[in-house]
Amino acid sequence: MIIPSLRTDSPAAFRASADTLVSCHIAPHLTEWEANGGATRRLFNVAGRAGVFRVPVPVSDGGLGLGLAHSVAFIRAVSRHAAGGVAASLCVQTHVAMPLLLGAGSDRQKHTWLPPLLNGSAITAVAITEPTGGSDLVNSTATWAVRAEEGWILSGEKTFITNAPIADCLLVLARTDRGAGALGLTFFLVPTDLPGVEVRDLRTAGLRSSRTGHVRLTRCVLPQDAVLGRPGLAMVQLARVLPEERLAISAGVLECARCCVERTAARPAVARSQTARAELARWLVEVEAAEAFLDAAVHRFDQGGGDRLDADLIKTVSARLTQRIVNGCARLTGTDAFVGSPAGEGSLLPALRDVRVLSVFGGSCETVRDSAAAEILRGAATRRQTDSLSLAGGRPV
Ligand SMILES: Cc1cc2nc3c(=O)[nH]c(=O)nc-3n(C[C@H](O)[C@H](O)[C@H](O)COP(=O)(O)OP(=O)(O)OC[C@H]3O[C@@H](n4cnc5c(N)ncnc54)[C@H](O)[C@@H]3O)c2cc1C
Repeated sequence: MIIPSLRTDSPAAFRASADTLVSCHIAPHLTEWEANGGATRRLFNVAGRAGVFRVPVPVSDGGLGLGLAHSVAFIRAVSRHAAGGVAASLCVQTHVAMPLLLGAGSDRQKHTWLPPLLNGSAITAVAITEPTGGSDLVNSTATWAVRAEEGWILSGEKTFITNAPIADCLLVLARTDRGAGALGLTFFLVPTDLPGVEVRDLRTAGLRSSRTGHVRLTRCVLPQDAVLGRPGLAMVQLARVLPEERLAISAGVLECARCCVERTAARPAVARSQTARAELARWLVEVEAAEAFLDAAVHRFDQGGGDRLDADLIKTVSARLTQRIVNGCARLTGTDAFVGSPAGEGSLLPALRDVRVLSVFGGSCETVRDSAAAEILRGAATRRQTDSLSLAGGRPV
């Protein structure tokens, strides 16, 4: 199978090649993936061969060095098919796992994992959430790693982990010091073929074209250098990558809303109704405004001026806006919204399922909103406005 590489000669050529890649090699499998519990390794293989994972990675680390704006253009191409699971699966690898590895991994860890992650022959999952909760990590993380002669012994349970059932390597958040609060949490690189690692599939209410799993870790013996960076720094490492993850998720979420508005507008009965057309026009304006904010935030990120506030604001707004719009589109569409397949023209069913999990995917709406509010109270909004005055203008791809 010949997979065309993403074109990097111009933003327009990049977008066109992303559209072709998705239409020819990803979209035809969406129906099957939605129905059968998520994407297979084939998705990662195709994405890797086309260069998707290389897009935002610096050239010095084997990437294309194109920044987040190009990644966002790719996420939009995927999300135009209104099945968010594929974007979620790829985002976990590109915008959470790889930045964690690049930011904190040792030379040996990067040497082992980066090449296969970049070419799509290896898959990662980031295992943070536990059955006891995923918001208050400092207090709820019960997965525990103790030092042993050989290195570390790790035990615990993780749940709702994207990619886990097909992953080769898990980045597992564990407690390494009970008395150290936020500085008692550490990330470990855990190969899934290690004795003591068990993963089972979970069927989720949405994002069904991504694989989601429950992970049980029973006295897994890890070498000393399984620690990502230094023990106790996981929350710092996570805080560094959250803006990128949240901007990437928001891009997919907003494109899904746009796609549903367009699919609804194409219905003859809707096109004949002035009231329906007015509603769709209002939603499109809201999506356009949110995307303009997102594009500016991505641009700031690529210029090195991105911050947590930008990402938390757009994540909060895009999740709730898309939930409202997709539900509104289903109301205007009527019964046809509740049948069909992702590939079927006009189908809203995958999007209707996906928006249900937006309340928690990538962090619960309430905790992300509260984080934004706290940043605003600390004066971050004023700092951001001042910073953006000093950055060059221009929209990303
Ligand atoms: C499809 C899917 C894929 C996922 N993929 C991953 C993954 O790859 N890796 C991973 O680690 N996790 C993953 N998750 C889990 C997700 O990150 C968590 O659901 C999320 O962080 C919230 O945690 P929780 O569900 O345990 O909710 P809890 O922490 O139990 O909170 C429940 C609810 O209580 C409210 N709440 C909690 N704290 C506060 C607060 N301080 N202020 C106000 N309200 C609050 C919120 O409404 C929240 O939704 C995934 C979830 C889904 C559904």
